[in-house]
Amino acid sequence: MDISQGILCCPDCKGPLDHTEAGLYCPACTVDYGELDGMWDLVPRDSSALKLSERNHYTGKVDYFLHMHATWNRSPFYRHYHACFLDELRILPHASLILETGCGLGHDGLELLRSGYRVVETDISPGQLAQARCLHEAEGFSAASTHLLADAENLPFASGSFDAAFTVASLHHLPDPLTSLREVRRVLKPGGIFVLGTEPNSWQNYTIYPLGKALLKAARSIAGVPIGGEEMVSEADKLTEGFSRRQLEDLLRNAGFTRIELQPAGYLSAAIFFLSTEISQMVGRDIKLFPLERAVIPLDGALGRLPLLSHYPWHWNAAAS
Ligand SMILES: [Zn+2]
Repeated sequence: MDISQGILCCPDCKGPLDHTEAGLYCPACTVDYGELDGMWDLVPRDSSALKLSERNHYTGKVDYFLHMHATWNRSPFYRHYHACFLDELRILPHASLILETGCGLGHDGLELLRSGYRVVETDISPGQLAQARCLHEAEGFSAASTHLLADAENLPFASGSFDAAFTVASLHHLPDPLTSLREVRRVLKPGGIFVLGTEPNSWQNYTIYPLGKALLKAARSIAGVPIGGEEMVSEADKLTEGFSRRQLEDLLRNAGFTRIELQPAGYLSAAIFFLSTEISQMVGRDIKLFPLERAVIPLDGALGRLPLLSHYPWHWNAAAS
C-alpha cells in the first residue's frame, strides 16, 4: 500500500484531491495532477523559473552526484555529521512516519529505512527522485517508502500527517525558506520533530568562498588548467548566502517552532573536506584526506563549544519541535 494514501492534498489550496482516470484532481482549483515515471507529480503548475531551473539542473546531474556521493559517503566528516542529525530522528518509535523534503538521491532516507522507519521522500527533480526510489527498492524498502514530486514551499500533505520531517542541504536552495519551514510545521503532528542537516553558514560567502575562488583561478591559470566545475553549481546555489545562527533561529521561531537547538557541523574537518573536493576538481582525480578529517573531528567538537566560534561553523545541523 502507498504510505502517502490518505494524507495527500492539493499543494495550493490544501483541499482534498479526487482520484480520476487521469490521476488526481483538485475540484476547488480545477487542476489535474498526473504521474511522472510512476510518481505523483504534485508540484504546482505555476512554479517560478528558479524552481524549474533547479528541477532541470538536478535531473541533468544525477550521474555527477552519484559519483560525488560515492566519495562523500566514505568521508569521515560527511559520515559523522550526517549520523549526528539522523540520530536526532532515531529517538522516534519504530515505524514512525518521516517526511524528507529535497531528498535528492535518497541516501539519508535509506539510513532511516534501515533503522525501521517509514519514509515519504519528496524532491522537485524527477531524475533525483527516481534514483532515490530505485535505491530504496533495490534495498527492499518498497513498502516502507513513497516518492513523490513536490515543492517544499507548497507541500501536498494534510496538516498533522507526520511524526517528523527533515531536510538536508536543501533549505538554502529555496527562494522562500520561511514558507517552507511553515509548511513543514503544518504537516507535522503536534510535538513532531523537525531536523535540519548540513545547511551552509553565511560567513563563508563574505570570506573564504570569494578568496578561495580567486586563489583557485590563479592556481589554474598558472598550472594551465581550464577553469571548470561552475556548470555543476545550480542557480539557487549561486544565489544563496547561507544562514547565520541568528537567521536560522529566527526562521525556525517564525515558522512556529518553540524548542530550537542549533548544532555546529564542522570546522577543520569541513575545511579539509572542501579543500580536497576543490583540489580533486582541479587536478581531475579524487584526492582524499580522510585520515586527516578523522583526526580533527574531536577538535571540531571542542571548537563548537567556544562561545564565539559556536557562531561560525562551516555548516549547521538543527533540531526543532
Ligand atoms: Zn486546490
